[in-house]
Amino acid sequence: MSTARKPMFKVRRSRVHGLGVFATRRIRKGTRIVEYLGERISHREANRRFARKAADDNHTFLYSVDRGVVIDAGVNGNDARFINHGCDPNCESVTEDRRIFIDAIATIQPGEELKYDYSIRRDKDDPANIDAIYACRCGGEGCRGTMLWPPKRPKRRSGKRR
Ligand SMILES: [Zn+2]
Repeated sequence: MSTARKPMFKVRRSRVHGLGVFATRRIRKGTRIVEYLGERISHREANRRFARKAADDNHTFLYSVDRGVVIDAGVNGNDARFINHGCDPNCESVTEDRRIFIDAIATIQPGEELKYDYSIRRDKDDPANIDAIYACRCGGEGCRGTMLWPPKRPKRRSGKRR
């Protein structure tokens, strides 16, 4: 009898957004599913690449590891780049030795879509339509309506108020 195991997941069309990644067998809570791979570049280079895209194109494959490194999964990336955001996720992204891994935080049944919370950081030079760009339609029970974190634009600190 072969001991080779079936792959844990496959990529196919998702109702949430474009392509998604789906479990092909039961994945136990705590399982390390896949590493997020791609070219390792600087934030400056990532900004340069992102600036060339359409302003409303949220299909970025960039993952910010820390202040020094961004992974661009558009170059030499693997299937991890197709895992969608979910507000009520069954996976999480874990940083270890400046590498990113996707781990199951719940036991996932065959056919279920893998999702993790992107928690995209707000930045002071975000475009005005940032909330529209990263709107979430995951349909999860606790959907907060955005992939951004914090969910609401921070209040202005200075200035007159009534
Ligand atoms: Zn959502």
